[in-house]
Amino acid sequence: MSAVFDLGVYPVKGESGRYHVKSNGRGTMYLVDLDELANGWCGCPHFEFKVSTSLSPLAECKHIRSAKAYQKLQRCFGGVRP
Ligand SMILES: [Zn+2]
Repeated sequence: MSAVFDLGVYPVKGESGRYHVKSNGRGTMYLVDLDELANGWCGCPHFEFKVSTSLSPLAECKHIRSAKAYQKLQRCFGGVRP
């Protein structure tokens, strides 16, 4: 029996650090790459806006936070399936 974590985060097969993260509401999926940039990259408009308007290399959106939470859980429990 495996634990289920409903974070809406789905790892991209064969590409570590990359996740498809479900956005609340419309069910849109965004690609998140935690190995990109200093603090991860996300394909959502919100992240794009944040990065282009902020000089901080540590901009992040809720999708990046979700992916990080997922990665953390996976490290703690191992083999977590979406
Ligand atoms: Zn995002």
